[in-house]
Amino acid sequence: MKIPYAEPYKIKMVEQIQKSSFEERKKWIKDAKYNLFNLTGKQVFIDLLTDSGTGAMSDKQWAALMTGDESYAGSDSYYRLKEMVKKLTGFEYFLPTHQGRAAENVLFSAILKEGNLIPGNAHFDTTKGHIEFRKAVAVDCTVEKAFDPELIYPFKGNLDLEKLEDILKKNPSENIPFIIVTLTCNTTGGQPVSMQNLKSVQGLAHKYNTKVIFDSARFAENAYFIKIREKGYRNLTIKEIVKEMFRYADGMTMSSKKDGIVNIGGFMAFRDRDYYDRASVYNIMFEGYLTYGGMAGRDMNALAQGLDEATEFNYLESRINQVAYLGEQCSKYGIPVMKPYGGHAIFVNASKFLSNIPREEFPAQTLAIELYLEAGVRGVELGAIMADRDPVTRKNRFPELELVRLAIPRRAYSYTHMDVVAAALKNIYDRRNKIKRGVKIVKEVPILRHFTVELKKC
Ligand SMILES: *Cc1c(COP(=O)(O)O)cnc(C)c1O
Repeated sequence: MKIPYAEPYKIKMVEQIQKSSFEERKKWIKDAKYNLFNLTGKQVFIDLLTDSGTGAMSDKQWAALMTGDESYAGSDSYYRLKEMVKKLTGFEYFLPTHQGRAAENVLFSAILKEGNLIPGNAHFDTTKGHIEFRKAVAVDCTVEKAFDPELIYPFKGNLDLEKLEDILKKNPSENIPFIIVTLTCNTTGGQPVSMQNLKSVQGLAHKYNTKVIFDSARFAENAYFIKIREKGYRNLTIKEIVKEMFRYADGMTMSSKKDGIVNIGGFMAFRDRDYYDRASVYNIMFEGYLTYGGMAGRDMNALAQGLDEATEFNYLESRINQVAYLGEQCSKYGIPVMKPYGGHAIFVNASKFLSNIPREEFPAQTLAIELYLEAGVRGVELGAIMADRDPVTRKNRFPELELVRLAIPRRAYSYTHMDVVAAALKNIYDRRNKIKRGVKIVKEVPILRHFTVELKKC
């Protein structure tokens, strides 16, 4: 019999979470104007809003907090973190920031110019935001296969090399300072990029005289998928695979709230001095002095430990298989979910799930509300509400997919919690034909409306 993927840790401290009644949730979600961002943490039983900054630190990380060095300049914790980053990535030059988007802000301030093109694989929203804010253009070169939700393909995060070469060929290299590769590709469902693809992207970057930056939030999860799915990597350790991945990049930005397993933090790292020097100026202006960059010494210390733990096979095996377990339970009940299952989240295909509800009545948001009502589970809509209106016509945009994302925090929930989520979805699925109406917008802002939108039931 196959031994289950049990967690490679036991529980030393617990945090109470609140169960509630259907009547209570009905009132709370109405008071929240049917926007799940308006719920308080206490009103939620199982919170799958995001895997960002919501993970559980280990005893060694908590111990590292106590021994952090708070020196303004030259903190010992900074050097410990810098050494860990160098050990994992091979990058010599390192700058801490307060989170991932801050690293984007600093790096892009130093490098990007109006009119630049930044090719990549489905850029993350803050990355795209920081590119467009500088009047540069994020050019999506993701493989077509990524956009078919049920197609099984091992590396749906890959870049389409023909698309990429086409862009590189047609534009002068000074217009394309770098290519951004997002690991794993969050926007297409936490899907990995293969080592072969990373190697080929670097080949093209060299050929056309540009650089490669990894948006590395889930680099360790990406390495796990390479080990399991790509030929030739079975017998390497995660740390060996990570080291090879970063050989194909010139630098990285990182949100430590993901595979750093800390609650806040970020950084940049580079192979060469040039980007480091140029970014340093902006790091001091926006983030803080070079050896803390918006982070407390203790947080840098805990991050160094977290990066070490996140790149251990046993941790990743239980992490990724917990996410897959939720996906399998859903599939078993006939619930339409995106495949293959992503590294950090399960995506429910809401327009298929609630096929009675027209796109104009936001099926994904409707499903997210139902899931909360059913069992106090909070997911997030990735659909027409999040897509905002077209800036010119002001009409609602309807993206190809209307999804509810269930992101699993690292080391925080048990398999039983996953069973609760799947059972709640099954109950809704069983009564899906009775859900005939969705929601409509009462109040919204012009951009990033999903955070503050106010809704009512149709
Ligand atoms: C979360 C994330 C970011 C932004 O990081 P923050 O720490 O939230 O600012 C950038 N890129 C990717 C791929 C992410 O997942």
